[in-house]
Amino acid sequence: ADYSGADATVQATNDSSIVSKASTAAAGYFEDAFVGHVAVRGPKGRLIRRSPLVHRCYYVRHLGVFQMQETFLRSCISPGDPYNVVVLGAGFDTGALRRGWPQGLRGYFEVDFPAVLSRKAALLRQAQVLRPDWLHSCGADLRDTAEVEASLKHAGVDFQVPTLLIAEVVLAYMEYKEGNALIEWVAKSFPNCLFGVYEQIGPHDPFGRFMRRHFIQRQCPLRALLFAPDLEAQRSRFRSFDRVDAANMTSILAAAPRDELARAFQLEAFDEFEEFHLKCVHYFCLAAMSGTCTRAKRQWE
Ligand code: SAM
Repeated sequence: ADYSGADATVQATNDSSIVSKASTAAAGYFEDAFVGHVAVRGPKGRLIRRSPLVHRCYYVRHLGVFQMQETFLRSCISPGDPYNVVVLGAGFDTGALRRGWPQGLRGYFEVDFPAVLSRKAALLRQAQVLRPDWLHSCGADLRDTAEVEASLKHAGVDFQVPTLLIAEVVLAYMEYKEGNALIEWVAKSFPNCLFGVYEQIGPHDPFGRFMRRHFIQRQCPLRALLFAPDLEAQRSRFRSFDRVDAANMTSILAAAPRDELARAFQLEAFDEFEEFHLKCVHYFCLAAMSGTCTRAKRQWE
């Protein structure tokens, strides 16, 4: 990656996840006509191919985020009502373009470091992808909530209308206290929201926080993930919200339609069931809700 400065390693985590998303889409797990335009390419400009285990894990991640989007769209707003989508640490994710957003969308706001967002915009321009006028790039450092707020206000966010916020593997790259400050800021700023989070959880480990900080400061974000807090600790970070639903990825799978899972799981020969199970119990989805969005239907046990 061509990022520079102290946050380059964190910004580069996006490059690795977008390669996996592009590989998973190319293998047929989900449809995405845009991800190939932004994915970092391998030798001779070819898409880099990941293993079937990685594909399954990204497929489950896709299902989890999709389920949270659906919950918001189906039960937090009525047809035609105004709403926003705000993606924190959006990276090169193509959710804005990939799915049809129903009527009422006031704006789709992607927040990330300016260097990441301008690279993404350049890649989409190069591929001649038309940018819808409701899609806004909000360059900001998520550790600075005043900057995030100013950037969103500048782009025209209406903080009062129901808002779907998504943070997909983002909080894990921030210091615990900085992540908590961002969560508190969301709770305070969006009185009617569903904040959907997809992250890693670790087994309870008294040295976990210390080790996370050590690896974050040493710019080893992937190692920092190994010391993620457990599910109960994660839930308690969102206690300012009116309601919090959280479940690991085995529950997300259980909530997915059987025929869809059958379709996806016959796409490739697969024999790494223990590893897949382990991955599923080490990642989770969490939906924190406030105001009118607390009426969302519960979908995970
Ligand atoms: N959410 C995207 C996805 O799932 O494809 C990208 C995930 S990537 C692993 C993490 C993203 O969070 C990167 O794009 C990184 O730049 C962004 N990020 C992490 N810390 C950030 C911060 N302090 N300010 C702004 N963006 C941040």
